Amino acid sequence: MEQSEGVKGTSHESFVPSIFLQNFYSPQSAGFGQKDGLGPWKLSCLHRAFTEGDIRGDLLIDVGSGPSLYQVLSGCEVFSKVLLTDFLEVNRQELKSWLQGEGANFDWTPFIKYVCELEGRSPSEWTEKAARLREVVSDVLPIDVHRAQPMAPDALPSEGADCLVSCFCLESASPDVDTFTKALGNISKLLRPGGHLLLIGALQESYYLGGPEKIPVLPLNESQICTSLQEQGFTLIRLEVHTPPRDITDTDDISDGRGCFFVKAKKN
Ligand code: SAH
Repeated sequence: MEQSEGVKGTSHESFVPSIFLQNFYSPQSAGFGQKDGLGPWKLSCLHRAFTEGDIRGDLLIDVGSGPSLYQVLSGCEVFSKVLLTDFLEVNRQELKSWLQGEGANFDWTPFIKYVCELEGRSPSEWTEKAARLREVVSDVLPIDVHRAQPMAPDALPSEGADCLVSCFCLESASPDVDTFTKALGNISKLLRPGGHLLLIGALQESYYLGGPEKIPVLPLNESQICTSLQEQGFTLIRLEVHTPPRDITDTDDISDGRGCFFVKAKKN
């Protein structure tokens, strides 16, 4: 896929999956050991969203998966088909290699075990959950949120997906609010009317270390997010905010965000 205007200059060329994963999802950085850690918070938000009973259907698409899988650990129990997507080939390769069980991949076990517990299952059932994920993820495909048609036209049914998840993608791919809002409108075309959108992202963040270099991020606040959603025809169901525990002062070297948001919305 050709690079689109919106991506040039956003330094995603310097993204290195192993560095990104180590920085944000290693057991120490994911926050499993801390009260109110970000990792458990994100997994809990997604678990709640997918078990409230209103999200149903066959196809779930994760937009801008990066090299990560945590964001579909709850959804993979509800949907029979999950598509992972990313702009970068290195990230798609990383995901394919985990799905095929090849080589020494990143270890998602702590995340999988945590979601097993949320689901009331024993953490020892994590291997079954990993198998379920490998079974329902049917492909890992290219996407560009800056294109009017972000995915290849034959990649999904004409009626669209039943649900979209997207974490930390739109704000890291967009240089300004207009581009962010437009990208939201572009991905909305992948979703059927009445389908749900689950967004997780950073608040007031200007960069993150997704490799050796800082990758710029559009600093967002809650009211901008609500305005963009409304402009693109979404009805907000819930917005939640996570503020990092006070004792975490040493994370500014990997990102400068002031918290994270979770949105559950519905396409009108
Ligand atoms: N969702 C993952 C990855 C977030 S990092 C997680 O939560 O861990 C941001 C991701 O956005 C990167 O994987 C990057 O490749 C992707 N990205 C950057 N520009 C994009 C674009 N134009 N379209 C789709 N994805 C893009």
